[in-house]
Amino acid sequence: MSPITPELEQALQARIRYYRDLGVYDLYRRGESTTEPAAELESVSVTDIEPEPPIPARKPTPPPLLPVASAESIPAADRSAALQAIRDDIGDCTRCPLAFQGRHSIVFGDGDPNARLMFIGEGPGADEDMQGLPFVGRAGQLLNNMIAAMGLKRAEVYIANIVKCRPPQNRVPEPEEANTCTQFLFRQIEVIRPQVIVALGATAATYLLGGKSPLARLRGRLHEARGTKLIVTYHPAYLLRDPTQKKEAWKDLQLAMKELGLKASPRPEN
Ligand code: URA
Repeated sequence: MSPITPELEQALQARIRYYRDLGVYDLYRRGESTTEPAAELESVSVTDIEPEPPIPARKPTPPPLLPVASAESIPAADRSAALQAIRDDIGDCTRCPLAFQGRHSIVFGDGDPNARLMFIGEGPGADEDMQGLPFVGRAGQLLNNMIAAMGLKRAEVYIANIVKCRPPQNRVPEPEEANTCTQFLFRQIEVIRPQVIVALGATAATYLLGGKSPLARLRGRLHEARGTKLIVTYHPAYLLRDPTQKKEAWKDLQLAMKELGLKASPRPEN
């Protein structure tokens, strides 16, 4: 193993802080049994992407009101433009009551149009409404740490919400609002075609899976939604209120990492 330089030491400390933020306190050296703690962390890099088993075809869903070409026919280089076309279709949306309840911005989504991993939350909060970007407030800071702990950069994933306009007082979106808005989210998913979607919280899980179930029953296993593998975990805002659940959320993220062939890296530059 190469010697630990002061720069590497600093990088390791930063990465360990990410894990701490996620509620992960036991770190193990690669190659050792996962039941034995290591004195120090060996560098673990994001490695080999394992071939994905074919995703079973999904039952046809009702056509979106504003159809786009199927994602198979959208080359990677054109996905940004395809997303922009969806944004243009949304326009200055007045399709649901959220348009008239103090909305400042339509928070479309943010990230890599070719992302392999997509996070979907509930709806913009005050910070997101002001900045026009998803997950930029306190919950967003925690989501950033979760993404970093997975060995990814925020710019490498795509982040969106069930509704694109802030519900007043951050209330849960009404079915009419969510069902009106998800037609656009589903089109975004069709364009991006991520390998894995992580649903953040019960609202995202409900509208992606098409039905309500307790989060405890949905967590910890793979689902299929919109032709993509789906993993359900706690919403970061919930984790801020109950940090003891961060360790459980980390288990869900590890499931996503396994699907993506990712290993957590202690090197922030990764
Ligand atoms: N909570 C969400 O569900 N989405 C955001 O974008 C911010 C907070």
